[in-house]
Order: sequence, then structure tokens, then C-alpha cells
Amino acid sequence: MNIEKDLFQQLIEKAPIGILVQCDGRIIFVNKTLKKMLGITDIQDLWLKDIILPESRRALLQIYRAISKSHKDKRELKIKTVSGKILWVEVITEEIKLDGKRCSISGLIDITDKKNLERQLRKLATIDRLTGIYNRYAFEKFLEEEISRAERYGTNFALIMFDIDNFKKINDTYGHQTGDIILKKISQIVKENIRKSDIFGRWGGEEFMIILPVKNINEASKVAEKIRKKIEEYKFPKVNRVTISAGVTMYKNGDILKSIIRRVDTALYMAKKSGKNKVVAV
Ligand code: GH3
Ligand code: MG
Ligand code: MG
Repeated sequence: MNIEKDLFQQLIEKAPIGILVQCDGRIIFVNKTLKKMLGITDIQDLWLKDIILPESRRALLQIYRAISKSHKDKRELKIKTVSGKILWVEVITEEIKLDGKRCSISGLIDITDKKNLERQLRKLATIDRLTGIYNRYAFEKFLEEEISRAERYGTNFALIMFDIDNFKKINDTYGHQTGDIILKKISQIVKENIRKSDIFGRWGGEEFMIILPVKNINEASKVAEKIRKKIEEYKFPKVNRVTISAGVTMYKNGDILKSIIRRVDTALYMAKKSGKNKVVAV
């Protein structure tokens, strides 16, 4: 019997998940695994307000609400240990009755590594490695979202597409590595000259696009012209002068992804055709 009790206690204390029991909002039990996870030695040291980050307060309320409604809950929560380390935990909570009181038992699993990996993968999937801006996949999604928003709420936006002039020649003359440096520098110049609300992405090779939440094409053309000028004036290593050509267009009623891209591409083509290093709005 004693062995059984001992085993039972050890199982609970050393289970590979943190266990927390609350009754009437008071914590009455925390197993060793959870103490270790949170960096505390005594249950007296544990105050939920200390470990729950401000951004997780809502989630905590949702847990309480779900427990009183459906008697169980499962969600991911960001917490802070006593030493200030941020942890992502999966919390599975179930209501129990203890001595006639309504209590709850929660199991906490540290999923910080999994979350970090997820974030890394998301970044890899949406960010262009060379320039650090959105890749084509991510940009297309933003553009689709912007089109839906425009359809639904009547909002307006502009699309700029630009392409480096004679980039093949730059590569052939100065090498691919110099080309890469130019791509990075141009991305940086653009980032410095657009607003936070603008979305900037690499469409492919030496082609870029920008979504701008502006009301008319003149505003967007001004931005494109400013970028064109900044790039033209910048002294690039080795190459010195690099220029771009840009096309600008506004969202129009009934546009789909293909139609707005085709229009901005046509504008860019016109800029190239008429001598490069210029902005054409259609
Ligand atoms: P245009 O003025 O008409 O745009 O001519 P262009 O030479 O810029 O255009 P073209 O399409 O003939 O060549 C684009 C070049 O861009 C060819 C390709 O090797 C180069 N390029 C594409 N992606 C990269 C990259 O990631 N790094 C480097 N260094 N070059 C790239
Ligand atoms: Mg091109
Ligand atoms: Mg080009």
C-alpha cells in the first residue's frame, strides 16, 4: 500500500508535464516538473499574475470561461518564468471536484522549441533570403488580401512594379556577387523610402513590387519617382550608377490578381520601351 502511494506521488511529481491544481481561483498544488519549469521552489512563490504575460491575460480569462462552460480547455499560452525567461506552453485544463469544491487540473507542456521552429519555418517560407523582404509567395497573398479588402470595403490601393535596368550587363561585367549586393542595397533604399503601411516584396530575379494604400495614382507615382531618383543618385560600389524602371497602377473595380499584375507589367514594359530609368503610370 505504501509503495503504491509512493509510486502515485512520484508519478505526479515527476510526470513529464507540469501539473497545476486550482480551487476557487487559488493554486493548491504544483508538481515538481512545473516548479522546475517556472523556476520556483515553493508553491507560495507562485502568483499567476507574475507568470502570465500581459498579452496572455485574455487567454487566461478564456480558459476560465471555457472551463465553466464546457468543463475543459486546451490552448497555447505564452508565460514568463521567475527568472524572466519567456516560455510557450500548451495548457490542457479540466474541471474536477475536490472535497465538494469546483477545482481544475491543468497540464502544462513546454512547446517553446516547437514554436521557435514554427516561426523560423514561417520566416523561411515568406521572406526572401537575399534581400530580407517578402518573397513572391507572401507578396501574392498580401495582394490577394488587398484586392478582397478593396472589393468588400471599397478601399483603394496602388501597385508599383519595378525592374533594374540592364542588370544582365551589370552581372556580366562585375560578377554575380556584385549583382547580389546591388539587389540588397536597392531593397534597403526602397525600405527607407516607403511607409510602414506599404508592402514591399521581391517578385523574382531583379523585379520588385510595392502595394501602397493610397487614394490616387499621383501619390503612388510620386513614391515611385522618389525611389527611382534615390537609386539613380546612389553611388553603388564598383558599378557606380544603377537605374530602375517602374510601372504604376491603381486597383480598379473588378480587378483580380492577374488583371492588376498584367496592367502594372504593361506600365513597366512601357517605361522600358521608352528609354528606361523612368516611371510610367497607367
Ligand atoms: P532590362 O533593362 O530590360 O530589364 O534588362 P535586364 O538585363 O535587366 O533584364 P534581363 O531579364 O535580360 O536580365 C535580368 C538578369 O537578372 C539576369 C539574371 O541573371 C539576373 N538575376 C536574376 N536574379 C538574380 C540574383 O538573385 N542575383 C544576381 N546577381 N542576378 C540575378
Ligand atoms: Mg526583369
Ligand atoms: Mg531588368
